Amino acid sequence: MMFEPFWKKMSDKYNVTIGGGDLMSYFSDGNNVCWFLEPKLGAAIRRLHGVVGNAVTDDRYIVVGTGSSQLFQALLYAFTTLGGPEPVSVVSSAPYYSAYAEVVGFLRSELYKWEGDAYKFNKKGAYIEVVNSPNNPDGTLREAVVMNRTGNGNGKLIYDFAYYWPQFTAITGVADYDNMLFTISKCTGHAGSRIGWALVKDKDIAKKMTEYITISSIGVSKESQFRAAKIIEVVCNGSQNVGSVKSENFFEYGRKILSERWQKLRETIQNSEYLILSKYPQGHCLFSGKLVETLSAYAWLESKDDTKDCNEFLRGLKIIGKSGKICGAHQKFARVNLMCREEEFNQFIERLSATRGKGVING
Ligand code: PMP
Repeated sequence: MMFEPFWKKMSDKYNVTIGGGDLMSYFSDGNNVCWFLEPKLGAAIRRLHGVVGNAVTDDRYIVVGTGSSQLFQALLYAFTTLGGPEPVSVVSSAPYYSAYAEVVGFLRSELYKWEGDAYKFNKKGAYIEVVNSPNNPDGTLREAVVMNRTGNGNGKLIYDFAYYWPQFTAITGVADYDNMLFTISKCTGHAGSRIGWALVKDKDIAKKMTEYITISSIGVSKESQFRAAKIIEVVCNGSQNVGSVKSENFFEYGRKILSERWQKLRETIQNSEYLILSKYPQGHCLFSGKLVETLSAYAWLESKDDTKDCNEFLRGLKIIGKSGKICGAHQKFARVNLMCREEEFNQFIERLSATRGKGVING
């Protein structure tokens, strides 16, 4: 919702009109492995990665999903569908995005099972490691860890690049991995459209993913794909100054809003008796050509007192966060979403400020 003012201001440009007889078929392109991917969206996605320079799309299949959440499940299925005597272990280094644990455990599958922190994983045999960079919840840049730590080469990797966009981080290189996930939810903010995409190197994996989505939802909403294609196209035009003025660069806008929020937050926490806020490194951004810092979508807050529960402390201030515990971390950490509307963010800052000088921490 943080990006809503940008889209409201330019609403007309991004409007799409869908007639009563449009987009009726299940099918979009029978010649494509992902037969329900709208060609317009496929082209827009390839263009977007070209413009931003954050991932290769050559020699990659695009699989579209109902959010990247569905594609994560499709990848789990694709990696494990042949089955084996034991469920395949799924790990991610802590603190991790709590939904990984939920999604993996939800159906008590015999194909895979959640094994938590990649730093603690020591089993032999097949595993899947999810690498989320920049990472939700703590904003750090991540690499795969199990192979380097244990030498176990039986791993499959899923790169979740939900936040690898210039408003959140320096684009330091063109990601070139076999299985990469992206989502419009974080790229442009249109989470309600439920559009994500996977860039997949191996045709058989792309086919299996397509099979999963065919069985679970017979494709992905055409209306959403159509709208996403339009949004992405205009974002690309704005970034390349095609038929628009400089102020319409969405990624610059996003970075500006986030950097103002981070500045306010740092000023507020700076003298806090109770909380610490992590620092992020700067990187040279290939997209903007500038040295920029990570502007995480989340504040990863830490209680100064190790024995205190940070989320409980926030709750006492009427701030709803997520406990570090459900992200595989200590309860002295908590995550607060910064991508909210401006009024909410300002209230968050006000409520945090109210702790200054008072002995409030007791959670
Ligand atoms: N991965 C990460 C790291 C996320 O934070 C989120 C959303 N919170 C998702 C995936 C899911 O995004 P989508 O809306 O595309 O399902």
